[in-house]
Amino acid sequence: MTEIRERVCDERRAALWAALLSWYDANKRDLPWRRSDDPYAVWISESMLQQTRVETVIPYFRRFMERFPTVGSLAEADVDEVLARWSGLGYYSRARRLHAAAAQLLELHEGEFPRDRAAAEALPGVGAYTAGAVLSIAYDLEEPLIDGNVQRVLARWFHVEGLVSRAATRRELEGLAEALVRGVGDPASWNQALMELGATICLPREPRCGGCPVEAFCEARAQGAEHAVPVLPRRPAPIDVELELFLVEEGGRVLLQRRGTGDRMAGLWELPTRELASGTPRLFPAELELTLLAREELGELRHTITRHKITAKVHKAVLGDSELPPRCAWFAGAELSGLGLTGMTKKALTLGRGRSL
Ligand code: SF4
Repeated sequence: MTEIRERVCDERRAALWAALLSWYDANKRDLPWRRSDDPYAVWISESMLQQTRVETVIPYFRRFMERFPTVGSLAEADVDEVLARWSGLGYYSRARRLHAAAAQLLELHEGEFPRDRAAAEALPGVGAYTAGAVLSIAYDLEEPLIDGNVQRVLARWFHVEGLVSRAATRRELEGLAEALVRGVGDPASWNQALMELGATICLPREPRCGGCPVEAFCEARAQGAEHAVPVLPRRPAPIDVELELFLVEEGGRVLLQRRGTGDRMAGLWELPTRELASGTPRLFPAELELTLLAREELGELRHTITRHKITAKVHKAVLGDSELPPRCAWFAGAELSGLGLTGMTKKALTLGRGRSL
């Protein structure tokens, strides 16, 4: 910590604050969640933004807030409806945890997001990043946060060369984030400015140092090392997965099956699916619970789930027997948009039925 204090001396800190905050004030993007400092809206947006691009999140955020405008409306909703509104955003456990956390907020905190960091981090799905974001952005508390963008910006400003997945490097970056937010006066803008710089200027592969408002303070830039830090762990190799999806329609209704509890994407609905090949334990069942007779190949789609690169053939099919297993059900076309469908099933239905959901 002593070393961090030396690196973030008062003079340098004040100059950084002034340069970054004035740039942010003039250049921040107009994003729907920035129009409110409602802790609930900040919490929902920050939960959606984890591992998901801003452009993707915007329509989901709007629709989610329209349907669940308050903690109470989210807590009281059926989890299936929450999943339906989340459908297509991926990482569905986040939606389940949001729903569970809303119930806890009602039960333990009178529906208010807590101002205390430990209480915030005790909520389902709320980690250090989300807690820091809500406390600083909504309550203007001088709480640090580190996401991928902030990690990159700090590692470059202070030329942090350690592998970012190492505990010592993480502690160093946390110390820097904390030293910079304490005393800033406007922590809501400061934390958002750090993230904004990382998202729009200090880009991972091609940082735009020429247009950077804090170039003069950047140690990595001064040493010509802006491409060398942060040092990220090697990405795991992608896994190729081949699937068959079966579109069974009868009287305008579509046959879907529900993913079981304990499965990835538990509770979501999908077309009956069979995994043909992959190099790892199966993501999808190898055997169909239904007897299906494929009639016609409708096309092929590609889909990615984390590092799984899926190629799926979509077949029109008919049922080979009349008994439906318990996890299968028929749905009319008008019901589909209200269901929690997997992203791949949405793509397959669009391909098979010629209209998007
Ligand atoms: S000077 Fe370049 S590397 Fe440094 S913070 Fe700015 S954009 Fe990032």
